[in-house]
Amino acid sequence: MTDNDRRKLVIVGASLAGLRAAEVLRAEGFAGSLTIVGDEPHLPYDRPPLSKQVLTSEGRPAGTELPLPEGLEARWQLGRAAVGLNPETRTVTLADGALIAYDGLLIATGSAARGRPAGLPAPPRGVMTLRGWDDALALRAALVPGRRLVVIGAGFLGGEIAAAARARGLDVTLVEAAAQPLERAIGATAGAYIAALHREAGIDLRTGTTVTDFHAAADGRLTGVRLSDGSGLPVDTAVLALGAVPSTGWLAGSGLALDGGVHCDRYLRALRADGSVVPGVVAAGDVARVPHRLADGERLALGHWTNAVEQGTTAAHTLLAPDAPEPFAGVPSFWSDLHGARIRSVGLPAAADEARVVEHDLAGRRLEMSYHRAGRLIGALTIGRTGRLAAYRNALHEQAPLPEAGPRAAA
Ligand SMILES: Cc1cc2nc3c(=O)[nH]c(=O)nc-3n(C[C@H](O)[C@H](O)[C@H](O)COP(=O)(O)OP(=O)(O)OC[C@H]3O[C@@H](n4cnc5c(N)ncnc54)[C@H](O)[C@@H]3O)c2cc1C
Repeated sequence: MTDNDRRKLVIVGASLAGLRAAEVLRAEGFAGSLTIVGDEPHLPYDRPPLSKQVLTSEGRPAGTELPLPEGLEARWQLGRAAVGLNPETRTVTLADGALIAYDGLLIATGSAARGRPAGLPAPPRGVMTLRGWDDALALRAALVPGRRLVVIGAGFLGGEIAAAARARGLDVTLVEAAAQPLERAIGATAGAYIAALHREAGIDLRTGTTVTDFHAAADGRLTGVRLSDGSGLPVDTAVLALGAVPSTGWLAGSGLALDGGVHCDRYLRALRADGSVVPGVVAAGDVARVPHRLADGERLALGHWTNAVEQGTTAAHTLLAPDAPEPFAGVPSFWSDLHGARIRSVGLPAAADEARVVEHDLAGRRLEMSYHRAGRLIGALTIGRTGRLAAYRNALHEQAPLPEAGPRAAA
């Protein structure tokens, strides 16, 4: 038995990043105690299908589970939320008051759907968000053909929900504050392309528009929304798809730097506000805010599936070898499926100051864009041209890593 195998490792967040880290820990021979805490009652499942196949099919479509690797031998603490972290005593507190001691801790609590924006009154019954399995089942039950749905926010998630509802035969309005869907994420040209896809599918897309009020019947049921142009829209169901916020509330008072996600160094070690490393604590996935070489070292929290998997791997390595950690060097990648179009991206299109059109063919369902920052390639996006991404990915991988920053203090 090695010293490592006497250690107690705890993962908070029983989902993609946490499961991936657990798998790597065991695959690389960690034989000590491994506890996985999750506030949902479910074993880990995959979220991307929740806004796609789960909404368009019945029952539980194939591919929604995250397979549990053999030999994981984890102590699952499901349906139990962590409510506090004390890095001095190296303990995590659960909602029922239980304390879990750790030698090494992975924070993998992901993110939660952003609630209503400031100024909007409390939503009545019939206003939903989508983040988890139970949300998806509730939303699917409301997607009855012929009913009227408004989706507030035309990002990837809102777009996919609108597309799924349209495919089920609902009357769908998609409301977006910006001039084009996804304008901040992928630029105005690609955003306009996606707007055209929505409109061709029969979605009533209202850009440059916000929802300013909800209307409800006497029994509290949603009956409509008011839009910023003064018009009213009768609806049966509304979905807020306004992005996600990192789930860091339970870490308040822990001393960790939490603004916009758990601040990490490039080894995914959690940092205090003064930039020093919190011994024994790492973070991965949607909750982690990590320096990215493509954004000149700026710390970013990315809500991407691949990012969660790759960071789960790096975080496990840092826990296993705190004196010789490996830097996280992943190139972000993302996919979305809209109206049968395969949208794929690599790098950080959102951090670009210039977007170049390489191919634009709406009728042929083909788009290729490259994204640049100060003249340097930092990302690409394709629709119907997935094969073109490999060259961009290779070019991005070849870019120099971030210089060493700060001491490599033991974790
Ligand atoms: C509907 C939907 C569709 C998506 N589609 C795509 C897509 O097409 N492509 C793509 O690249 N990405 C997609 N994503 C994003 C992708 O699923 C996420 O990036 C990924 O799930 C992040 O994994 P994670 O483990 O970091 O966090 P999560 O999957 O969010 O898991 C975090 C877990 O921690 C739990 N938790 C939170 N707080 C606590 C606490 N205090 N105590 C205990 N447990 C806690 C949460 O309940 C959750 O189970 C989608 C996400 C959603 C919601």
